[in-house]
Amino acid sequence: MRPLPQFVQSPLLRSVPGVYHAFLGADPVEGRGCRDRLREVFSLSADAVGTLKQVHSARVLRFGPGDGYGPGGWKREGDAIWTDEPGTGVGVHTADCVPVLIAHRDFPFAAAVHAGWRGLAAGVVEEAVGTVSRRYGGDAVGGLVAAAGPCAMGCCYEVGDEVAEALLSVPGAAGHLRAGRASGKWMADLQAIALSALSAAGVPPARSESVGPCTVCSERFHSFRREKSLTGRQLGFIYIREIPREHENPLPRQVSP
Ligand SMILES: [Zn+2]
Repeated sequence: MRPLPQFVQSPLLRSVPGVYHAFLGADPVEGRGCRDRLREVFSLSADAVGTLKQVHSARVLRFGPGDGYGPGGWKREGDAIWTDEPGTGVGVHTADCVPVLIAHRDFPFAAAVHAGWRGLAAGVVEEAVGTVSRRYGGDAVGGLVAAAGPCAMGCCYEVGDEVAEALLSVPGAAGHLRAGRASGKWMADLQAIALSALSAAGVPPARSESVGPCTVCSERFHSFRREKSLTGRQLGFIYIREIPREHENPLPRQVSP
């Protein structure tokens, strides 16, 4: 068997029955694309995993067949995608932005959110959670479980006044911005700000967590800032299993954090 790609998992999300997820990173196998990775490593048909053309918006869309991870082709624009159908999954691509994966502990629901500073400021996390309250009722939000994956963190992510100000529109963000090395510069912990946004949207803090390293300092993950290129992006995905097959198909688990 060929080596696995780097990936990390959230223990909280792993405890939710009926879903499987991974925040993927660099892949030691040259030329193994996302479709092959999903099939070979996770036994998933790429057509069953929906992604969008990400535009740093707060737009949330429900997974449709055309959103499958097909080669090339046209993608709908949006930054959060969700599904409630067993046998389907959703994902987002990131290189320093925050991938947020969400599930519900009581019924099939999975969402993937692409949250960079623009998306966070635009409220994409709150919009994604709002989809749950609109569809299932406000009480359903209390049963959500969420994880913010590898992204640019406070050790490395320096931003100017304008970005810092935009981020301050997220309730609680002020605690995750500290003065940078020069005046007018700030160090922003995007992952912590994404967790603040989840909490502000009603996800109980005990049911959300951050996993994975800072993408800028860890070479296990792609980073736009470090690599100066968007060619290396990683998929974070969450998949609703077809329930009866849950035990037939053992999937890889993260060995060490
Ligand atoms: Zn760092």
